[in-house]
Amino acid sequence: MRKVSILGATGSIGQNTIDLIKRASGEYDVVALTGARNIKQLAEDARDLHADLAVTADPLLLDDLRDALAGSGIDAAAGSEALVEAGARDADWVMSAIVGAAGLAPGLEALKQGASLALANKESMVCAGALVKATATQHQARVLPVDSEHSAVFQGLIGEDMKAVERIIITASGGAFRDWPMEKLAGATPAQAATHPNWDMGKRITIDSASMFNKALEVIETREFFEVDPSIIEVLVHPQSMIHALVGFNDGALMAHVGPPDMRHAIGFALHWPERRKLPVERLDLAALSQLTFRAPDEIRWPALRLAREVMEAGGHSGAVFNAAKERALDHFIAQKIGFMQMAEVVEEVLTRLSAQSGLTNAEMTLDSVLEMDHLARKCADEIIAGM
Ligand code: NAD
Ligand code: MG
Repeated sequence: MRKVSILGATGSIGQNTIDLIKRASGEYDVVALTGARNIKQLAEDARDLHADLAVTADPLLLDDLRDALAGSGIDAAAGSEALVEAGARDADWVMSAIVGAAGLAPGLEALKQGASLALANKESMVCAGALVKATATQHQARVLPVDSEHSAVFQGLIGEDMKAVERIIITASGGAFRDWPMEKLAGATPAQAATHPNWDMGKRITIDSASMFNKALEVIETREFFEVDPSIIEVLVHPQSMIHALVGFNDGALMAHVGPPDMRHAIGFALHWPERRKLPVERLDLAALSQLTFRAPDEIRWPALRLAREVMEAGGHSGAVFNAAKERALDHFIAQKIGFMQMAEVVEEVLTRLSAQSGLTNAEMTLDSVLEMDHLARKCADEIIAGM
């Protein structure tokens, strides 16, 4: 039996992962599940899957978790150290699906024990790509992409020579405000931003899709995952979200990955890799779809895309600063303290102010150095927002 853990089990990616594991439960031995506030779901899944350990991120909820697991023999724990311990528990395959930079440390632990890390938590690659890759190499562990675009690129590159790759195109639906007039964007509310035309995802990534911060993170994630020059990475607005990514080769061929917007494809691909197995996703009827459309992204509407380019140019710890500033700006947008378009203003200002910081671009990357930059960027974002 394969030993598996799911970090962020109660979220959208976590629940899709559990759906796949439950369909073939005889093949998996579930080690650890983690969540945050949804104790009922966490305990229910831990019982159903006979997990060894369940962890909540919130120490105040430890008693609730213990009560919910009473009599099951499943260990309960809480807090950030317990999350790291969940990642360190012996497993062959670990799903990293915590949202935000909080997913970094537990994922690194999973790599240190040599597990295959299925990485939905793109923030790990954005904040600390060099560290994630070095840790994987050092412990002969693997990082497998779960973000749909990166899974698509990964699949498009199987059997190919990287030297022949000329372009990598990741698609973007354009999110909730794709067709809104520009002048309306400043007044967009969190509730309006938290709807997505095609994908059913967690609230934070859904708002990040409307602002394109999600795509900005993914451009940086593409660079880190596939180690390509930033200049060959393109973003293409594709409202139907059926083509997830395309890889272009030096003979002019473009290989596109086409599939329904269902994360169980990318999760299942990472779960079964290097095999391809039957998955419970819809089979597309292209004739019924009749047309797929594309357009170039507008960097005035979506300044996050320009900022991603600047971050890749600067390198080093600027990804950690970018992500942390974005997380704080998003917190404040959700709390209705700043407007939708102000999120990018905050992030840009944090990048400017911290660019003079020694060590931003040239210090050696460790977990501590990344967490320190993350902390500085959050503080800086809070100061900027307080003055707005
Ligand atoms: P979600 O909000 O639905 O779930 C997040 C999970 O993380 C939950 O289990 C939650 O309890 C846990 N969590 C939240 N804050 C935490 C903290 N501070 N410490 C520890 N755990 C915490 O999010 P999601 O949509 O499932 O996304 C998870 C990750 O996968 C994100 O990095 C996202 O960008 C990425 N991703 C998601 C999708 C998708 O379709 N949902 C697609 C591609 C990538
Ligand atoms: Mg994606």
